[in-house]
Amino acid sequence: MWLPDAVLACIKTLKQAGFQGYAVGGCVRDWLCGLKPKDYDVATSATPEQVTALFPRVVPTGLKYGTVTVLFGKEPVEVTTFRVEDGYSDGRRPDQVRLIDNLIEDLARRDLTINAMAFSPTTGLIDPFGGERDIRRGIIRAVGDPAVRFEEDRLRILRAFRFAATLGYRLDTDTLKAALQQAKGISSVSAERVTGELMRTLTGAFPSRLRPLVESGALLPWGIRPVSSLFALDFTSPQRAVRLAALCLLTGSDLEDLGLRLRLDRRTYKEASQLLFEQTKPIPTTESEVRRRLCEAGPDLLSRTLRLQGDLSSAAAPAAAFAAQMTGRILRRGDPYQLRMLAVTGEDLIQAGFAPGPAIKRTLMRLLDAVLKDPGSNQKQILLRLALIWENGKGPKDDRQAMQGERF
Ligand code: ATP
Ligand code: MG
Repeated sequence: MWLPDAVLACIKTLKQAGFQGYAVGGCVRDWLCGLKPKDYDVATSATPEQVTALFPRVVPTGLKYGTVTVLFGKEPVEVTTFRVEDGYSDGRRPDQVRLIDNLIEDLARRDLTINAMAFSPTTGLIDPFGGERDIRRGIIRAVGDPAVRFEEDRLRILRAFRFAATLGYRLDTDTLKAALQQAKGISSVSAERVTGELMRTLTGAFPSRLRPLVESGALLPWGIRPVSSLFALDFTSPQRAVRLAALCLLTGSDLEDLGLRLRLDRRTYKEASQLLFEQTKPIPTTESEVRRRLCEAGPDLLSRTLRLQGDLSSAAAPAAAFAAQMTGRILRRGDPYQLRMLAVTGEDLIQAGFAPGPAIKRTLMRLLDAVLKDPGSNQKQILLRLALIWENGKGPKDDRQAMQGERF
């Protein structure tokens, strides 16, 4: 396994001082999965005090849990003393953390076999629970008795589904059974943690792996209604708002309810809600309809909406793809679809003799409406002429005639 210099130096210093030191957890898992680890955690037999004495720059980031951060230049390495956790009376956090000097015991308290491996250059991979085999087979399995492990900490249930969704793995039969049996208990986990795991699950490459949990109804306290298929979710683009909107559509859940219960951040909520609103509209079939939708939604939201509509329904896919092509063409051509793209401004209208006031805005909106239908008419003279005709009391029936008269 490749380790960054800072981690190697850390392990080496610990060993030279007579302690054990290993890269553990997520980084070993990611490396074996062929992914680039986000960060590297080191586990050691040295106590935090001993670690602090060994390195020149150490920050006491989580002393309660036996964690300090060792700084190598700018590079931080989290070093945690081997530990076990005792008593989980709240179904989430251990009542007490006990520091120990045994790596295997430390690995045994970890949640999943794929997360319970250690590596050091001198010992190679240490994998007492078959994590490497599970990675090869694509299996998520709890360390030890899954029923006990999930009862200790319900967050582990969500973590199991999260790793299934991000890695594309399946839950082992016993692990799945225990997860579903205890799933009701997830309601005791804080909204923040549930949301964190759920969002990572939803934005994974295989979010439909969440299906058994959704189907069990265990996520109802979070506003997610039970359904028996989330298949289509995997085909949508992996952005938070898109996946949330898709989840709402597929499960018939109410975004507002879900947003409140999960305490969704404002931005994700707003984006998802815009998508849900836009996708209620029919897929545009003409360029003029596309321009109108561009005016209402803007290019990004329209593209994402069309994509979502096509991804969720194979029946809608051809029409959505065609509309997306038209959108691209319209944008490349630079057709006007916003007030500020009109060839006249309020200023121009005032100079042409229109009285300043709210009527100007209304006239501009009407001009935009005409231009959305016929982008060729977006010329100052034509639009001014049109506005004057309206101003002089002629009805909108004359619009086309007036425009054509000007052009030809
Ligand atoms: P990622 O950082 O990608 O979320 P990770 O596995 O590194 O994945 P962390 O939350 O950083 O997740 O946890 C580090 C390690 O601590 C995990 O690999 C696992 O061994 C252990 N761990 C984390 N959360 C739990 C938990 N709830 N129960 C038991 N062990 C856990
Ligand atoms: Mg991590």
